[in-house]
Amino acid sequence: MTATAPDAAPEGAGIAEIADATPHFRFFALEVLRTRRLGRSFLRITFGGESLSGFRSGGHDQSLSLFLPPAGREHTALPSTDEDTWFADWRGMPDEERPVMRSYTVREQRRTADGVDEVDIDFVLHGGSSPASSWAGRAVTGRRILAIGPAVAENKSVRFQPPAGTDAFLLYADETALPAAAAILDRLPAGIPVRAWFEIPHEDDRLYLRAPAGADITWVVRDPGAGRERTDRVLDALRTAERPAAGAPYAWIAGESATIRAVRRHFVQDCGIDRRAVRFTGYWRLGATEEQLLAEAYAGRAPDEDPAAEL
Ligand SMILES: Cc1cc2nc3c(=O)[nH]c(=O)nc-3n(C[C@H](O)[C@H](O)[C@H](O)COP(=O)(O)OP(=O)(O)OC[C@H]3O[C@@H](n4cnc5c(N)ncnc54)[C@H](O)[C@@H]3O)c2cc1C
Repeated sequence: MTATAPDAAPEGAGIAEIADATPHFRFFALEVLRTRRLGRSFLRITFGGESLSGFRSGGHDQSLSLFLPPAGREHTALPSTDEDTWFADWRGMPDEERPVMRSYTVREQRRTADGVDEVDIDFVLHGGSSPASSWAGRAVTGRRILAIGPAVAENKSVRFQPPAGTDAFLLYADETALPAAAAILDRLPAGIPVRAWFEIPHEDDRLYLRAPAGADITWVVRDPGAGRERTDRVLDALRTAERPAAGAPYAWIAGESATIRAVRRHFVQDCGIDRRAVRFTGYWRLGATEEQLLAEAYAGRAPDEDPAAEL
């Protein structure tokens, strides 16, 4: 039941994976234990399942790939979860039966006092009939899905990798990346300045966040119905903010593709931050489904993560 992580690695297994022969990713069977509304747009789903005893989140922005049942089906079923055959088998399924694959973040993994392994995933309910968002909105206890997730904590789906000597953290996230940013804040060391900008659809999407003392967080509430011009509002917030004086800042940026590219350009061109110290990831793109983004990634046209990409 081993697998590569499609959200992170269309090219397949990494060198480390081959070298230590421990599969970094594999399939897990997840069952909905409970749901909880966190804000107007956020729904936390807590999953359990026996296979989670082998789940090893690396924390921070650890992502995983969920397989969600197509409309009209209660549970996810795949013809195979074998490392060598699952992908072709999944792709070969009739459209109306094929589960949708979507990337999400492990907000938290824990073992309860009763020894039950649990994983929280925070879903943005963005409306309409989008498969993942609408599945989450209908989720009830007992629904079963599949995921490709981490079997070792050090894996390449943890993108937040600040170099030693980092002396300030700069974070930008929209609502889809807020779960990842929250998990990053959970683990940041005390004593290093943190400046963060979080873009949310509504006032009541401000979430309670644990953060190191002194962390400076700006909430940017989007105009209702904002389209591409949403980016301008984020850039205004960035331009007017004071940044910590730092010689070796590390920036982590994730969210809608056009906005993250603009934020990256601001940090690199306007602020003079070394582009290798700016980690940026497109979590979604206005007007494109994740199938379309994956198709571009497989075709080798995915500039939304490449530090060498043109600004
Ligand atoms: C590494 C990674 C981690 C992620 N973690 C999370 C997470 O923890 N929580 C989370 O909610 N999302 C997360 N996302 C984003 C999520 O995968 C996308 O939002 C995805 O498109 C949702 O699938 P869908 O089936 O709802 O919509 P799709 O079928 O993929 O898209 C349908 C339409 O909805 C639009 N759309 C997609 N997302 C949004 C949105 N948030 N607001 C408005 N319109 C949207 C698309 O542009 C498209 O037009 C993550 C993405 C990545 C790459």
